[in-house]
Amino acid sequence: MRRTGPLFLFLVMLAALMTTLTASPAQAQSAVTGVPLSVCVARVSAGDTAAAMLASPGRFDCTTPQTSFHNGDYWVLSQPLGTIADAGDRERVRIASLWQDRVTLYALYPDGKVRGWAYDGAGISRHLQLGAMIQWRLDPKLGAPVRFLWRVDGSANLRGILVAPRLATAREAARANIVMAAMYSGFMGLCFALLIYNLAMWGALRHRFQLAYCAMVLSLGLYAFTSSGGLAWANPAMLNNDRLRFNYIFLATGAATALMFARAFFPPSVTSGWVSRAANWLTALALTAMVAFALLAPWQIGLLDAFYSISFAVLIVAIVPIILRARTERSPHLWLFAVAWAAPIVFAALRLLANLAVVRWSFWLDNSTILSMAFEAIVSTLAIAYRIRLLSNERDEAIEREIIAARLADTDPLTGLLNRRAFLRQAIGREGEQVLILTDLDHFKHVNETLGHDGGDEVLRLFARVLRLAAPGALITRMGGEEFAILSPADRAIAPEAVLERLRAARMPFDIHVTTSIGACTGPLASEADWKAMYRRADRALFDAKQAGRDRARIAPLAA
Ligand code: GH3
Ligand code: MG
Ligand code: MG
Repeated sequence: MRRTGPLFLFLVMLAALMTTLTASPAQAQSAVTGVPLSVCVARVSAGDTAAAMLASPGRFDCTTPQTSFHNGDYWVLSQPLGTIADAGDRERVRIASLWQDRVTLYALYPDGKVRGWAYDGAGISRHLQLGAMIQWRLDPKLGAPVRFLWRVDGSANLRGILVAPRLATAREAARANIVMAAMYSGFMGLCFALLIYNLAMWGALRHRFQLAYCAMVLSLGLYAFTSSGGLAWANPAMLNNDRLRFNYIFLATGAATALMFARAFFPPSVTSGWVSRAANWLTALALTAMVAFALLAPWQIGLLDAFYSISFAVLIVAIVPIILRARTERSPHLWLFAVAWAAPIVFAALRLLANLAVVRWSFWLDNSTILSMAFEAIVSTLAIAYRIRLLSNERDEAIEREIIAARLADTDPLTGLLNRRAFLRQAIGREGEQVLILTDLDHFKHVNETLGHDGGDEVLRLFARVLRLAAPGALITRMGGEEFAILSPADRAIAPEAVLERLRAARMPFDIHVTTSIGACTGPLASEADWKAMYRRADRALFDAKQAGRDRARIAPLAA
């Protein structure tokens, strides 16, 4: 997994990226459905009427880009509808929702009659379609109109005065809502699942970046809810401009929490110091711009919007030093992070250029945030899984090291048996009668003299093996030198004779004959004092065995 994991992740992400890139234009066009209308604009002058404006197309400017005009009140005239073959069957007029106080659609009919439908802020909310398109329903009883005229009052003209005007059939409009509902609910479902999943993971693992990630996903989910027009469906009494304020709020919190996530995701060595201070300042700047717009617009709306866009740009730039530092630090998470964030950062930059009117507004670009962030959210959750995997690997290795260290501290390095300290820890406090066997090799000095010290060591190792085989399940220790102890419960006691027998049968280096003497005793082992008494008695019995000629066992008489 260590080697193939990153590759596998990369392939998954590549597949996801392809899906996102190939699927999104078709989906995004769904909101902007129907036949496009070309439009010309004219400033509203005192005394203008719809009929008079429809009668004087010469007053309209068809060449200057809309964003070159200021904010204010405008007339917007469509091309003559005669050029559209099936205009009569197209009863839905749709435009993109922008910051404006009021929009009125006028239709000119072949008999010269003009009909108008005005939407104020709440009227726009009531007629908002998913994808944030404002829609009028023409009355088929009135017949097919020949031309449209809109009056837009209080246009902020941040992205244009009237954008993406379309003439659609009822079927197209309904289909657009269904496709957009699928797209947005898919995104919201994704947000919901990621939120719950990552909150649960945070509960278990408590990494700070998980909380930042949850905050980011929550912001994006809310942004999708407001920017799709879902909020207007939930609360039709709300002014459309107020809905747009929420767009600004959630997009900014989304970006700020994304930066928070980036900072928390990398180890402190990458994000500490001036990078951290700069990120704090930039986040504060972006949030200030967001609050200023949300509270003060439409006062100085052009300036506030530019301030917002620029603070956003700076926020994107704030990622750069983090990435550069991660590169110098050779952070293993960098490549994942880079893949995850490439799309959102590129789209955010493009969107920004559109906001600053360097690149043309398009519905797709306007909604790119949601699509690219959906992609980012998925990759990031993979990155989190990857990061957690690294952390749990580290933890497992630490646990393993600890186990090994503990085991080393408890064993006698020569024989691999328990050392005296570990033996006593496990021995003292045992319940019930215990049998202690002390066994000391006979004339070991002589063994050393014959085989050399290394040969003596080998004999000690072989004797340890003999003891393990003779006393399976018992507690065995090397007390020191060539003296060993075996402890077992009285009802499963090891017969000392068995130890002697096995040793006699064991093959030793150069076939030398090695024997041992044994002293054994039975008694309680509840306390340190019990141990001392047991040891004294077994040692005494051992001494007796040595005195009696070695290669034998002596059992201590039962304690008084
Ligand atoms: P006895 O039958 O009375 O027990 O005689 P002994 O020679 O075995 O007894 P003594 O206690 O006089 O000598 C023990 C020897 O064991 C002395 C020491 O050099 C040797 N010895 C102790 N630890 C080690 C060890 O780790 N490796 C080796 N090779 N020898 C050891
Ligand atoms: Mg000895
Ligand atoms: Mg000895």
